[in-house]
Amino acid sequence: MNDQKRLLIVDDEETLTYSLYQSFILAKHDYEVVTASSGEEASTKLKEKNYDLVITDISMPGMSGLELLTNIKQDYPGTEVIIMTAYGSPEKKEEAFNSGAKYYVEKPFEIKEIKQMVMDILG
Ligand SMILES: [Mg+2]
Repeated sequence: MNDQKRLLIVDDEETLTYSLYQSFILAKHDYEVVTASSGEEASTKLKEKNYDLVITDISMPGMSGLELLTNIKQDYPGTEVIIMTAYGSPEKKEEAFNSGAKYYVEKPFEIKEIKQMVMDILG
């Protein structure tokens, strides 16, 4: 039975996508983990495969994470989204939840916080 969950991590800071990627690969979760460094790259990957969960930064060159979130909820309503940002504000948090984000987390965060959210969503 192949019920491997797919997780897409999107951030222009590649050290962050890499450390999240490593932490999910090394953990004993059977997740397929893919990374993208922009909203545009993420959109291309979303067209190629279904993802159960997308974790995205807000501030990136080009498409923002909030735009990506809106597109995901329109095109792939079953895909959950976690928003992360180093430039949080109550307005952004509200916009993220109004746009359908499951969780919103401000950087810097501990990897275990994100892991808990991911396990809550993906099991
Ligand atoms: Mg960024």
